[in-house]
Amino acid sequence: MKTRGTLTDKLLDSDPFDFSVEAKKIFLESFRENALYHYEANPFTKKLWDKLNFHPRDLKIEEDLSEIPGTMVHLYKEHELCSVKKEELVLTLTSSGTGGQKSQQFLDQQSLDNVKKLALNVHRSLGMASDRKYNYLCFTYDPKVANDLGTAFTDELLTNFTGKNEVFYAIQWSDEKKDFELNEKGTVETLKRFAASDIPTRILGFPALLFEVIEKNNLQLNLGKDSWLQTGGGWKGKADKEIPKKEFHRFIEERLGIPKTNQRDLFGMVEHGIPYVDCEEGNLHIPNYARVFVRSPHDLSLRKKGDRGLLHFLCSYNFSYPAPSLLTTDYGRVETCSCGKGDILILEGRAGVNKHKGCALKALELVEKA
Ligand SMILES: [Zn+2]
Repeated sequence: MKTRGTLTDKLLDSDPFDFSVEAKKIFLESFRENALYHYEANPFTKKLWDKLNFHPRDLKIEEDLSEIPGTMVHLYKEHELCSVKKEELVLTLTSSGTGGQKSQQFLDQQSLDNVKKLALNVHRSLGMASDRKYNYLCFTYDPKVANDLGTAFTDELLTNFTGKNEVFYAIQWSDEKKDFELNEKGTVETLKRFAASDIPTRILGFPALLFEVIEKNNLQLNLGKDSWLQTGGGWKGKADKEIPKKEFHRFIEERLGIPKTNQRDLFGMVEHGIPYVDCEEGNLHIPNYARVFVRSPHDLSLRKKGDRGLLHFLCSYNFSYPAPSLLTTDYGRVETCSCGKGDILILEGRAGVNKHKGCALKALELVEKA
């Protein structure tokens, strides 16, 4: 019998974009349940919160959530923090650093089921899940060989939100080079084959990688109005080539025939796991499965809505990894979208750049080599 997570189950059965008083209360209760679990199961969390004189039981109203101490993201890179026995883990996700520290997250079965469910709910609510079959082009590592990489896991997960026909993974293992490499020739051939097919296409991956493949190969295709592009990972390492979102959407519509409203970006962090996904208007939405606070980089005080600061994330779905309250080195703002689905996250870069080279950058280096 399951003895923990009943309030989280209730939360994940609710609409991710319902922000009524009752819905927000469900998040608060679910967060308290989760934080209390980590407080008791993980001595590090207990010590940290005790030191800051904060107990999960003190969480009584929505406003109390902003009083929660954030755990600095680098602590999770330096220590292997876990709130269950290692034998209970079913998946460890990592973000491949290039010389830097690895980001990781530990998942037991319950937490894995939770993250899958909440991701499906978010995508379904934003009109992105479908029973229809799609051909997939994923600009990532084949999950058969890189299942523990955050990006490969995400793409494998996203392909399950629709019917699937063919799935092509663009980044493949080369036995000869003993490394991953972008199969550029295969990617171009696949795009042409998908364009000729009656089945619509979904492209998943890093925007810079797709942009370069289109430019280098002078592609001009029509994948059809029912096709989609789902990007993630940003333009890290290619910031000099970054194209403003609206311009990128126009470029993709012109060169691949994918409508602008079917082009959606996703922001996620391996340690946090909540997907922040674009609505039709191209804004990253914050679901009721999380809270995002913006803090002053000087004293961590709460910033007003619309003001820039360090991002502090709360979530409640994970019982194996003690990161319910994660303070990041990312800058951003929170505003409200006109689409009616509540608040959005606006990303504004990182506080420390070099030490955070991640999957996106590693993948981009493969383009250079190709
Ligand atoms: Zn919106």
